[in-house]
Amino acid sequence: MTVKNDHITMLHGAGGTVMHDLIKNYIVKYFGDTASIEVPLEALDDAAVVGDVVLKSDSHAVKPIFFPGGDIGRLAVSGTVNDIAVLGAEPYALACGFVLEEGLALVDFEKILASMQQTCMEAEVSIVTGDTKVVEKGSLGGCVINTSGIGRRNAALEKNLEVVKQFRNDFKTRWILDSNLRAGDKIVLSGTVGDHGLAVLSAQEGLSFGSGIKSDVKPLNRLIRRLLGEVGGVVAMKDPTRGGLADALNEFSDKSHVGILVYEDKIPVRKDVRAACEMLGLDPFEVGNEGKIIIGVVKEKAEEALKLLRITEEGKEAEIVGEATTDFTGVAMQTVVGGKRIIARPVGDPVPRIC
Ligand code: MG
Repeated sequence: MTVKNDHITMLHGAGGTVMHDLIKNYIVKYFGDTASIEVPLEALDDAAVVGDVVLKSDSHAVKPIFFPGGDIGRLAVSGTVNDIAVLGAEPYALACGFVLEEGLALVDFEKILASMQQTCMEAEVSIVTGDTKVVEKGSLGGCVINTSGIGRRNAALEKNLEVVKQFRNDFKTRWILDSNLRAGDKIVLSGTVGDHGLAVLSAQEGLSFGSGIKSDVKPLNRLIRRLLGEVGGVVAMKDPTRGGLADALNEFSDKSHVGILVYEDKIPVRKDVRAACEMLGLDPFEVGNEGKIIIGVVKEKAEEALKLLRITEEGKEAEIVGEATTDFTGVAMQTVVGGKRIIARPVGDPVPRIC
């Protein structure tokens, strides 16, 4: 779907087709000539690779800055850490830029800082440089935080690639990329979808869904390190953030030139999230997550990957949800009632400013 508009709209930041078009037609148009870089801008992966360094920058503008299960500080550290980790790299240093809004209570600023410190400890990363700016009172909602970060190769990534090559002798890349899926690979999801978007929406609208839906926001790099180092065979990974599972699967499918079939009854959705989505007319597969990964793994290692995920706190509700195929293009879902339906790329995440 193309939206004709001469100005930026909220949909341009909502992670679906409208945002992808803005990035392609404007940002990549000016900066997307970096083919000498191993994983360049125009690959539009979760992060770039420059030499052996994985580099990522991410601004966080969630509204409100405190929500059930998390806050903007935890989100700012987790978001950048996870985007580096899904390429297979070990994140180790972050830069942090604060844009603070006049009127933000210092006690709230300090809460955010403490949350960032705690999340950095969980992720074993440090904030080593940064910047602070203040803007006049307006619609910022308290503050915006940019975090940028770097990651490096580690033993877990090397071990993972060795395992991949046992099953795939044409595997060339040194990183875990959206474009690496081949027919037969299994798709594993680390847990329930929709929790984060619904938690933020409930805080935005002052809604109570009666059952304590909380954001899943957390750093996943330690889980990913275990998965790569102790099992291996992972070829593609993504954190299904804005646009949710539907957008992430379509990214995989487009960039890898394979079809993806998923099974509705295998995709974990909390009962209260499903009920809230039904009430609000939302599709839980299009709602953003901040503590989940979607993993493409060679079929020979899928059961082992699932087993490992399930013994961890972050992955205890993991499921093998589908597989890559050459039977069709795009993403399709086998529904519980027996038919197949197409999972199209969403126009935009139905919940605004979730990250
Ligand atoms: Mg990502």
